[in-house]
Amino acid sequence: MVGAEYRIALNGVYRMADRPASSPEDAAPSLPGLGGGEAPARVPVLLPLPLAGAYDYKVPPEIPVRPGDFVLVPLGRRQDIGVVWDRLAEDGEDIAEARLKPIEHRFDLPPLPEVVRRFVDWVAAYTLSPTGTVLRMAMSVSAVFEQPARPTVAYRLAEGVDLDRPAAKLTPQRRRVLDLAAAGPAMTAADLAREAGVGSGVVRGLVEAGLLAATVMSLDDTPPQPDGARPGPALSVDQAAAADELRQRVAEGRYSATLLDGVTGSGKTEVYFEAIAAALRQGKQVLVLLPEIALTAAWLDRFAQRFGAMPAEWHSELSGKRRRQTWRAIAEGKVKVVVGARSALFLPYPDLGLIVVDEEHDAAFKQEDGVIYHARDMAVVRAHLGHIPIVLASATPSLETNANAEGGRYKRLDLPARHGGALLPEIQAIDIRKHKPPRQRWLSPPLRQAVAETLAQGEQAMLFLNRRGYAPLTLCRACGHRLQCPSCSAWLVEHRLVGRLQCHHCGYSTRMPEACPACGAEGELAACGPGVERLSEEVAELFPQARASVMASDTITGPVAAANFVRAVEEHEIDIVIGTQIVAKGHHFPLLTLVGVVDGDLGLAGGDLRAAERSFQLLYQVAGRAGRAERPGKVLIQTADPDHPVMRALVAGDRDGFLAAETEARRRSGMPPFGRLAALIVSSGEASHADATARALARTAPRGEGIEILGPAPAPLALLRGRHRRRLLMKVRRGMDVQALLHDWLAQVPLSGDVRVQVDVDPYSFM
Ligand code: ADP
Ligand code: ZN
Repeated sequence: MVGAEYRIALNGVYRMADRPASSPEDAAPSLPGLGGGEAPARVPVLLPLPLAGAYDYKVPPEIPVRPGDFVLVPLGRRQDIGVVWDRLAEDGEDIAEARLKPIEHRFDLPPLPEVVRRFVDWVAAYTLSPTGTVLRMAMSVSAVFEQPARPTVAYRLAEGVDLDRPAAKLTPQRRRVLDLAAAGPAMTAADLAREAGVGSGVVRGLVEAGLLAATVMSLDDTPPQPDGARPGPALSVDQAAAADELRQRVAEGRYSATLLDGVTGSGKTEVYFEAIAAALRQGKQVLVLLPEIALTAAWLDRFAQRFGAMPAEWHSELSGKRRRQTWRAIAEGKVKVVVGARSALFLPYPDLGLIVVDEEHDAAFKQEDGVIYHARDMAVVRAHLGHIPIVLASATPSLETNANAEGGRYKRLDLPARHGGALLPEIQAIDIRKHKPPRQRWLSPPLRQAVAETLAQGEQAMLFLNRRGYAPLTLCRACGHRLQCPSCSAWLVEHRLVGRLQCHHCGYSTRMPEACPACGAEGELAACGPGVERLSEEVAELFPQARASVMASDTITGPVAAANFVRAVEEHEIDIVIGTQIVAKGHHFPLLTLVGVVDGDLGLAGGDLRAAERSFQLLYQVAGRAGRAERPGKVLIQTADPDHPVMRALVAGDRDGFLAAETEARRRSGMPPFGRLAALIVSSGEASHADATARALARTAPRGEGIEILGPAPAPLALLRGRHRRRLLMKVRRGMDVQALLHDWLAQVPLSGDVRVQVDVDPYSFM
């Protein structure tokens, strides 16, 4: 039964809306056959496994259950925890009463709310995933089902400790622990050490010094919750108008989607905080989705200042204990605000009143493995099913969202100016064909000069290069051999600081060899092209006096490291920030007045559907880091193609013109959101098996008016983690039922051996 990923029962009642997910007017499926009445003697139970659907179980009289209850049931020779699901009208197939196994136990937890069950069904049907696989995302860790543990000892900041005026000088490690203890709920010593990234001795020392105080933590204790009655800052006229609108949406208490469209620094966060306050005053729960949770330290600080308490965080780095505690408190409605990454969408909120998706255009919202879904689109669906408002915030809305706003499906609220009168930075392109950097260097003379001037004025500069490591390619000068990953079709990236070569796709890593593995020549391996590490060498050589620091996902490994880095920049302990895309988002550095984009053309290579759009968004975001306070900012973009529409739009500050041109191009080519795409990725350890299945899929592909099939072709990453990959792309006219087409198509091609077919509806990655 577990077999092919796509062979699932697409239930007739969940007919998909024939439109992009991000405008799900018809998302709410009607569910005939559900309803009250007598407690049934048998119920369907959905298990968090890749099975075709729910299985029926017998309800023993001593364990009455309702839909949504978490129950323990026998499954083959083992047991598993599942959820009592709803009886759907079209469920057929009757197993004889006598053969049914009984439910063994009901957990003492609030039932999974009906709206969450419908959401699980919806996402499963939309993404062609087994419903149980989607359910697993809502069930989080199995630990939530264990008996509440005995009370444990936890630590919080001791009474009377003033972190702004500590009695003795604090080491940075001690400081991190104390900051954490001051901000959050009481935590165990182990959790404190882990989240602050220090050894357990540091925590012990703080306890002995009387700076941390022990308390008894019961897992049912909920920390103080954000207070919606606290006053916010005085808002500008535009901000106040937008905030009023949003408060109104919250007051209405029905589905609405609003695009909060404002330039970087215009105060979008302050404005949606007002909507959050309104929802809190109604006693509702609020979900805020952020694209990259590792970068939210500053956001959390602001939130805590505004609302007097921290929200609950939800992301992959939570410890098991916190995860379990948070999940339960959300299910019980005790936690009021959750801020999280994609997966926070599937939590069992009993009383969600508002969803906010910040940086809605961000590609990080697309989950690319397991259940492949776009969290922003699914958030809109969740809002629709729950009859609640959703706010999408961005300075560079995605083309899809923009089209929805133009079409009147979303309401648009504009914040046209930066807060406090700060000006948007001036953006210039530097044609590097005319202003060549020296050989094996990457900063052109005009950019070097601008950095020098910025430093001379006591201000800060940021150099943006979206490439981790030292060099993206290592080449043998003797034979031309390129060092490649053994299990991916990708070059190995040199990370010189750690002396290794890494594959950025599978994590493979190896020591830098002395000799070329192909021809054996020694000392001939040469680094080609720059990464941020190499750029920092050039910076050190040009500006030996300046304090420069690299910020990339491998140097900033977690929320604490990110917060420390941000603080160091804010306190002007750093003059030049060298960073990858993680510096592009969100930060507000008042002294930062120059942003230099080292390779403006990088994101345009490869030519996937959204290359131009994404490139524009990323560069616009980076540019938005400059000049956010009184001092005006300047942005220099190095490019070999200053006439490219993306560069021209950036320089002219013509975001809307760019969006309009891109939208027109998509309309003409029938690409999303004017047509719909779905990708099939066939993979196998054997190239010939992948090819055979891909050819079989091509033969049985749906045909007809409005349907176009592209491929099969080797995926750009034709080998990934040792699996050979082939892609097919289905492009259909808007209004066609993509899921039904895919379902019929896939049902015709049986899979054998290790061949897998991944279905990606509304693909974002074309790798
Ligand atoms: P955005 O999210 O649009 O980039 P932010 O909400 O981060 O903008 O605001 C930019 C900066 O301006 C922040 O430091 C924020 O605290 C400040 N700010 C915005 N609006 C106000 C306001 N009404 N009063 C005080 N400070 C504000
Ligand atoms: Zn690899």
